[in-house]
Amino acid sequence: MEEYNNIINGEKVQSGSTFGVVNPANGDVFAICQSANVEMVDQAVAAARAAFFEWSKTSQEERKAKIHAIGDALEANMADLMALVTAETGKPMSGLNGVGSGMEVGGSIAWTHYTAELDLPVDIIQEDDIASIQVFRKPLGVVASITPWNWPLMIAIWHVMPALRAGNTVVIKPSPLTPLATIRFVEMVSEILPPGVLNVITGDASIGEALSKHSDVNKIVFTGSTQTGRNIMQAASANLKRLTLELGGNDAGIVLDDVNVKEVAPKLFAAAFHNNGQTCACLKRLYVHESIYEDLCEELARLAKTVVIGDGMRDGVELGPLQNKAQLAIVTDLVADAKANGGRFIAGGHPIEGDGFFFAPTIIADLEDGHRLVDEEQFGPVVPVIKYSDVSTIIGRANQNESGLGGSIWSSNVTRAAALAQQLECGTAWVNDHGAIQPDAPFGGVKQSGFGVEFGSYGLEEYTSLQTIKITKN
Ligand code: NAD
Repeated sequence: MEEYNNIINGEKVQSGSTFGVVNPANGDVFAICQSANVEMVDQAVAAARAAFFEWSKTSQEERKAKIHAIGDALEANMADLMALVTAETGKPMSGLNGVGSGMEVGGSIAWTHYTAELDLPVDIIQEDDIASIQVFRKPLGVVASITPWNWPLMIAIWHVMPALRAGNTVVIKPSPLTPLATIRFVEMVSEILPPGVLNVITGDASIGEALSKHSDVNKIVFTGSTQTGRNIMQAASANLKRLTLELGGNDAGIVLDDVNVKEVAPKLFAAAFHNNGQTCACLKRLYVHESIYEDLCEELARLAKTVVIGDGMRDGVELGPLQNKAQLAIVTDLVADAKANGGRFIAGGHPIEGDGFFFAPTIIADLEDGHRLVDEEQFGPVVPVIKYSDVSTIIGRANQNESGLGGSIWSSNVTRAAALAQQLECGTAWVNDHGAIQPDAPFGGVKQSGFGVEFGSYGLEEYTSLQTIKITKN
């Protein structure tokens, strides 16, 4: 069985203690990973600190070139990385609506090249006979990246590339459930970057905690659950670390009475079910006007019953298993609660028998705000469809949830929809789409979905601090 190592200062490092990585399609351990310990956290941070001085002094052009070289290396290893992502996450190679490991690796390549080209221009505030005032963007130092299991490689890229582009050095800790593609990526990068610029250490919450409170880490970029985000924020306070927290979402989709049901149903279905609902910005609560409610429920149920489920390595599979057993238990529990509260099951509703962590795509009608499946993030292939009659109150209802990652309005009247979208309390609001992200548009949450943004210039700036230089001339 292949063994994967921590990489510190460009070297493979072993602790002697290991854990197995499970393929969620069959429940079997298929790879062994070395687990880091707290001493290795210190070593990794020290290596990143030692590398920072030289790396932060490299020219913009040099860093651009290195990051493009990383993009090229990802592309050269695309097939291998896709197979690893599918094996460790369960997501299909292609997947529903093209959302699979091909998109994860392809997106990683695209984001890398786009981020390479971003600039951090000097802002000239004043330039005259009296004074010169210029504002510079400087790197922060050592950035710790802590990632979840749903999009392990893509999220690693989202964290690491802007950090490096701005001149920081990085220690990344992937989820112990999905460390492999990240380790393979760091191995490849070790041939491109100087030692210590990018390090990877693996392990559970204790390793994340050690990073979060480490006095020589300057920033944490974290993607994961809201509760872990709170823990990190607390631990990070000792030395006032900068934070970007991309946390859980419970995105509402609001369907107005004027849509063409047959046209929107596949789009809504894909927005809720791609990656088995295990995407932060999946559509997780669907509010549908009463005039089209039954028709849309019927269409969604038809799609749920015909979607192709199976091992993601197999051609044509659209949905794989859930990534882990604990998530399967969360989904099963929320579905049981929906049943107990009178939910009308129009598709699915049960785990699929076998060794893998499969759950039948599930559509539940007749739930209300206040039911757990509506109020809590399910992170699985289950969507509650909620009936409403009054458009004037529906935005307020959607906004009552404590999450604020994304939201969407669906309508044939774009002007009407855009006006409602602006009233949603969330970081991104889509019209006639949901969850569509791109490397040049900022993405992040409000309320309990976190703070800070990723992508584009706005995202890059989060890896810098401002320095104002004033030269007094008279
Ligand atoms: P999680 O919070 O359990 O774990 C995420 C990472 O944090 C893992 O690497 C874990 O080992 C580490 N960790 C756990 N406890 C820690 C602690 N006390 N200190 C430091 N690190 C710690 O989340 P998960 O279950 O891996 O991911 C699912 C969640 O992530 C969902 O809520 C989902 O919505 C959210 N998510 C959000 C986004 C976004 O961009 N907003 C993207 C993907 C996932």
